[in-house]
Amino acid sequence: MAPPEMLSSGEQDRGAPHVVFIPSAGMGHLFPFFRFITALSSHDVDISVVTVLPTVTTAEADHFAALFTALPRIRRINFNLLPLDASAFPGADPFFLRWESLRRSAHLLGPLLAGATPSMSAVITDVTLASQVIPIVKDELHLSCHILFPSSTTMLSVCAYFPTYLDGANADHVVSDVDVPGVRRFTKATLPQALHDPNNLFTKQFVANGRGFTKADGFLLNTFEALEPEAIAALRGGKVIPCFPPVFTVGPLKSMIPAESEKAGAGSPMAWLDEQPARSVVYVAFGNRCAVTLDQIREIAAGLEASSFRFLWVLKTTVVDREDTVELKDVLGDGFLERTQGRGLVTKAWVDQEAVLNHPAVGLFLSHSGWNSVLEAAVGGVPLLAWPRLGDHHVNATAMVSGGVGVWMEHWSWDGEDRLVSGEEIGEKLKEVMADETVRARVAKVREEAAKAVDEGGSTYRSMQEFVAKLKAN
Ligand code: UDP
Ligand code: UDP
Repeated sequence: MAPPEMLSSGEQDRGAPHVVFIPSAGMGHLFPFFRFITALSSHDVDISVVTVLPTVTTAEADHFAALFTALPRIRRINFNLLPLDASAFPGADPFFLRWESLRRSAHLLGPLLAGATPSMSAVITDVTLASQVIPIVKDELHLSCHILFPSSTTMLSVCAYFPTYLDGANADHVVSDVDVPGVRRFTKATLPQALHDPNNLFTKQFVANGRGFTKADGFLLNTFEALEPEAIAALRGGKVIPCFPPVFTVGPLKSMIPAESEKAGAGSPMAWLDEQPARSVVYVAFGNRCAVTLDQIREIAAGLEASSFRFLWVLKTTVVDREDTVELKDVLGDGFLERTQGRGLVTKAWVDQEAVLNHPAVGLFLSHSGWNSVLEAAVGGVPLLAWPRLGDHHVNATAMVSGGVGVWMEHWSWDGEDRLVSGEEIGEKLKEVMADETVRARVAKVREEAAKAVDEGGSTYRSMQEFVAKLKAN
């Protein structure tokens, strides 16, 4: 096997720990990696990042490029995947397919990483690769292996407990409500829909990964003590499953590197927000991979129009950004853009959401409850109106509500359901939550707690120090 391709290296072995990151795919998974890598790079640690090119989306490619440009000391280890016959998984989500390719190519990582210089001391990988990567890192390379979990700690409790649940009263593998010890009961409808089908590719990966958790050396969590105290305590106390590895709460993780596409210029959403009064704008966005149906898009448009609020709407009609070629005016219907000109801005482009949620003009966030979005709303102190669409969104919504970040529309439909939520209902709810001072006061408090956690001496600060000390002691 050829030695790893080390770009932007030129460094001698300084005796600092050398940490290799093995991320997976999807911006919701990559952002926590990029943010944690940026945070770790301010400590005396050598860092390499295993990178698979081409990425699934343009956003991923742009943000990998931004990371390596901003932090030239970080080495890139190119990883070529084995071909995967996608026709064996008809209709599978493109990100699940990429996770599967990574999982099936994981045995190539041992020889690839064994040649790394300076020699490696630790690996940090994504939960979607856990059951494949942990044995290679621990048994072949004899290194420590931590999992950076991209979702809520509440979701981690579900992932960790799910195999026990299946092995228990449920030998026929029929999924019903799941009572996670020490955390809460999740109704069947709250779980990722894919888990309802034991043969779904996601379910197979999810269960295999969950079974591998206790072999990890620890978990890095994008949360903070005040946000999810029960789930953190339940995992630490061994209530969810016995002998759960140590958990380090390192959130809220924040970006320090804007990608080229995020720079604010004239005509950008940030420039537009600068012109709007304080807390007047409803920000609407459903993450980087939720394709809302055309009919539902039209109802959202009607709701925004009926609410009379100013709005910034990041609209996506496909799961993969480079396939989104439709024209906004065709999607939104006759006259919407003209009628709302000046009052609203709709874009299909990537926006710097973190910056948007920190802008004083933003008063409410209509969101799918992707975990990065929840944390960004908490940091910005912007109330979140959760409309979960798929995957972990409902589980995150439970954590988001109990953590005090916002309100969850429990009866609004999922992706794949026939029922449309009407524009009238959306407009009414926007008005109600925009006017709700109690919700606003609670999220303002959460914002303070988030800031306290990362300040010197705070829970996140201490967790990060502990983790770095562990790396250096290895
Ligand atoms: N994001 C962004 N600009 C966009 C779309 C998404 O900055 O135009 C970011 C968003 O801020 C978040 C991440 O992409 O950090 C999406 O992750 P999340 O967990 O919220 O949802 P997912 O996309 O995984 O469903
Ligand atoms: N997940 C996991 N193990 C897996 C795959 C996913 O624990 O093998 C978790 C992960 O935290 C992810 C969540 O399940 O965020 C839901 O996955 P989803 O389908 O929503 O994909 P995503 O939106 O994260 O790309």
